[in-house]
Amino acid sequence: MKTPKDKSDAEWRAELTPEAYRVAREHGTERAFTGLYWDSKDQGTYRCIGCDAELFSSETKYDSGSGWPSFYQPLNPANIGEESDTKLGMRRTEVHCNQCGAHLGHVFPDGPQPTGLRYCINSASLKLEKK
Ligand SMILES: [Zn+2]
Repeated sequence: MKTPKDKSDAEWRAELTPEAYRVAREHGTERAFTGLYWDSKDQGTYRCIGCDAELFSSETKYDSGSGWPSFYQPLNPANIGEESDTKLGMRRTEVHCNQCGAHLGHVFPDGPQPTGLRYCINSASLKLEKK
């Protein structure tokens, strides 16, 4: 069976919307306050746009004021990969889906307790499975 990581660029392009492709496959960033979920209060599970992996729960989502969906804790840490990102001249930690490699956003050390982390995620990389 093919794993999501084996998918070709053409397959990703065919499956994803142009915005989701740009964010998830090309490490893009959606504009703040424009995504589908930054303001969402719906209950459920946020899954990866690329492979359906469980990423975040609405229970750990909070309003960070940033204009992107923000979470203080991953649902299943094994599904979230981290990588150092120095692209904009600052040191940030990029986060991606461990199953399919989709770029999700960044994690910052200024979140609320109990973790103190802020997962700043693009709506375009997520799909909410409502409860
Ligand atoms: Zn994925």
